[in-house]
Amino acid sequence: MSTVKNPAYGRKDEEAVDEGHTYDQGSWRAPWGLLTVIGVLVLLAGFGGGFGAGWGARSANQNDEPCTIQVSGTDANPAAADNVDILRQFTPFKISSNASNSAVQSYYDQNAILNPAFHTLSVVITALSGKNATIDPNVLRIYVLGKYDGDQDVVSRLFNVAQRLQVSPDFFQNILEITTGMVDIFNYIRDNMSKIGTTSGASGRRALLQSSSSSSNQPLPSQVLSAFIKSGLQSPTLQGALGDLTPIFSDIDTIAALAVDTYYAIKDLAQQVDSMAVVMNNYHPESPTAPPSVTAPLTIGGFANTSVQVTVSYDYLVVGEATDDAVATVPSTGRRLLQDSQILIPLPAGFTPKKPADLPNVLIPLVFHVMLYSNGDGTYGPPNYANSLTMAQRMVAIANFRLQPAKIQLFVQEVRASPNFQYLIKPSRDAWINCASPGFFYDLCGEVIQPSAVDFPRAINIYVVGEQPPTDWVGYAFAPGATDDPFYGHMGLTWTTFSTDGVNNRANFESGASALVHETMHHLGMMHTFSDGTCSDDDAPSVSDTPTTNGPVWSQSWAQKAYIACMNAWSKSLSANWDTANRQASLRVGIPANDANSAFDSCPSSAGSDETANYITYTYDICLLALGHLTTGQVIAMHQITADNNPTLYAWGQYYALNPPAGYTPPVVATPSPSPPPPSPPPPSPPPPVAKPSPSPSPSPSPSPSPSPSPSPAPSNTGCQSSTNKGCKCVNSWTYLNNQYSDCVTVPGEEKKGNWCQVDRSNGNCANARNGWWDYCTPSCGTKTATATPSPSPSPSPSPSPSPTSTGGTPRCGAGAPTKSGLTCTSAAWKLKSSTTTYTGCANPTNDAKGNWCVLAKGQATASGAAWDYCLDNCNAASPAPTTGGAVTYPYNKQCNRGFTGLPNGCTCADGYTISFQGYGTSYSGQRGCTVFSETGTGMCVTSNCKTASNNKKAFTCDCAV
Ligand SMILES: [Zn+2]
Repeated sequence: MSTVKNPAYGRKDEEAVDEGHTYDQGSWRAPWGLLTVIGVLVLLAGFGGGFGAGWGARSANQNDEPCTIQVSGTDANPAAADNVDILRQFTPFKISSNASNSAVQSYYDQNAILNPAFHTLSVVITALSGKNATIDPNVLRIYVLGKYDGDQDVVSRLFNVAQRLQVSPDFFQNILEITTGMVDIFNYIRDNMSKIGTTSGASGRRALLQSSSSSSNQPLPSQVLSAFIKSGLQSPTLQGALGDLTPIFSDIDTIAALAVDTYYAIKDLAQQVDSMAVVMNNYHPESPTAPPSVTAPLTIGGFANTSVQVTVSYDYLVVGEATDDAVATVPSTGRRLLQDSQILIPLPAGFTPKKPADLPNVLIPLVFHVMLYSNGDGTYGPPNYANSLTMAQRMVAIANFRLQPAKIQLFVQEVRASPNFQYLIKPSRDAWINCASPGFFYDLCGEVIQPSAVDFPRAINIYVVGEQPPTDWVGYAFAPGATDDPFYGHMGLTWTTFSTDGVNNRANFESGASALVHETMHHLGMMHTFSDGTCSDDDAPSVSDTPTTNGPVWSQSWAQKAYIACMNAWSKSLSANWDTANRQASLRVGIPANDANSAFDSCPSSAGSDETANYITYTYDICLLALGHLTTGQVIAMHQITADNNPTLYAWGQYYALNPPAGYTPPVVATPSPSPPPPSPPPPSPPPPVAKPSPSPSPSPSPSPSPSPSPSPAPSNTGCQSSTNKGCKCVNSWTYLNNQYSDCVTVPGEEKKGNWCQVDRSNGNCANARNGWWDYCTPSCGTKTATATPSPSPSPSPSPSPSPTSTGGTPRCGAGAPTKSGLTCTSAAWKLKSSTTTYTGCANPTNDAKGNWCVLAKGQATASGAAWDYCLDNCNAASPAPTTGGAVTYPYNKQCNRGFTGLPNGCTCADGYTISFQGYGTSYSGQRGCTVFSETGTGMCVTSNCKTASNNKKAFTCDCAV
């Protein structure tokens, strides 16, 4: 057997030391006498030549043999004979680095291989730890990738094990057997630590954990462990595991080798389960609540005279093209359409919404703001941002199955993911990551929310930013979402949650859609079904039919059993079929019988047992996919609370439900976007009764991939993609062992394997891949000669075409005029909300001291997020600034161009507010920034974007930063 030595990346433990030794595998007999040759199949070739340690830094492996392992042997299981490993090398990646799009994409690809295995390993780690907590697989990912970011030895081991766990393309069909089989083995290891010794006398856990083996004559701990596991597999104790695993992994040697390597990959993690639990508690953060929208009179912070009291509110400048109904004025004789509230955007004539008790269909518009970053070379990240529309549509389509029983549906009204929206762009990948960690987007980069919110509060504005890790949350929403301030009425999701390269896909059990459903329920007023640590009821009194529980599913002593039960439901009841899962979700309302297990009851003195799969509890994605539900009480409460809290959304949602898709502007991604691989349309039935928002497969004409500005190393796309044996598609251009291949090929030197390719999982609907990434295929794109060209170092492609600027022929100040930020005025007539006057081109209806401005053309917004911008200076001749001659006219704006001083931490002066002085009888609306009022004679303003939410919407004295 040949052994190739690799310098390996950052390895530290006994395996690295052991690797330097040579030993005769045949000379040592295990204490149990069950084997003569250890680890024939331990994958020595090409993986660094050592037990358990199969990895190598890419740069150090130029001369390696391919990482291929033929499973062979006289007693190989015929059913598993086709399961052959082709393993990728591990590539270290530093998360907080301004890496190129291709480096980030390769990191995402690597994580896509790790993630499915984490669904198994999270339970295996629990078993080895002996603790009850079963870590959510997503949290395990966040914890491992974050903790070992600077030292990726552990990650490289996990990467190797992850690929081997997925040796069969039917991993998701086999996940129950693989998981329970491995759990049995690791329970056996844990229970028998004291019996696992070495001939050196070290025994038990100490032997396995010892940091090095100094004598080359002693058997290695891994050999001891392997022999012990094999003895178990050949004894009655592990017959169940053997039966589960042999059909997949072929034979006992392979299973033992995999278990040994898994042990060394997870043994340190098993000691850290308590630390992981801390991350788990952040994973779904407490749902933030908005401050009350009406504030009582208060004093002015920083102003000496406390007898002066004011009331304040935000007062946005709402502008748009004259035909936008968001800027229309609600008739003063407005009908009382829903009880006790006001519709902020007038409804179409003749339309009368129903009362919530009627449970009408409601179709809610979503506006996605995908935050981007500049790579500094004219390109933008994150990679594949140009596919945001497809990602949003996919996530929404899955979420709609689950919301169907609530008679609530979502549609993608707009996806903003283009540099033409200047506010989306962070200056670097680091800055973008730091917008979501540590903390929430609205705390860290939330200054863009108020000016950029679209169609508020009729639509739900969703900001997408940052990665897990370092971000440890999946999403957030206010419960219920505010209607007077998008800062407290928006939703946040991480890019990891949103992207099909992250967890918006089948391979992660539709984690992305789970997040969208959960946060949408918060926005519509739902609280969690549990309360922390006590048997009280967070969602009472509005919801009475969710059993009282004392905490999230994953914090319970029965968490592991619940996880396995969900896995069982997935495997047995749903036959591991995503389409069936979606279909059943659309019909399921109320707690399903198989989610009412009396063994899972955190509050035995209260009625009912814990739900493991309510969409708004904290639980595992596989539970939500297999058993996810909401209760009748939740459905009724969501309608009632939304009608009361946000009648604009509720009434318009009914209108959209009755006047669907054609009536709204088709989803738009402002960049020329690649047409997505035709979204495998959500399963055959059932057509939701509310009109499907019908993103009819995107109208963009060309099937050729992406003219997106991201550098794509391989320009050789023909548009043809061969199919894999499992019905997936081949990636057009892919890399293996530093060579580049296209589509479906026979790799030189590995002719025996026939044709294979990297599986294209970019649309989120293909979960089947061997070793998590490849499969056999049939070439269907013409004859191909296998080319093994060294993969080129990615070179940045040309800068994206410049944002539109107006050119000759357009009046400099009229319709289509250029603006100060390099954007363009709309060509249409525009107006302010609450005014009937319309304008074209540049004008100054607000008497803004900075001069004329205009509403921007559709598809543009400024760096601060505003849909309007100032015109060039030469447009101001006709309208001089109002204040002249030295006489002070109150109120006057101090025009702070460099920010504000005197405000609490992080606060800025709001862009639009109303302030009323109690006792003076004076009130000023339409104020902006730090402004001096005659009542106080000092600069003051209403705050927003404060780090401490309770400081928002307060009056403070201020001055200009210099
Ligand atoms: Zn929540």
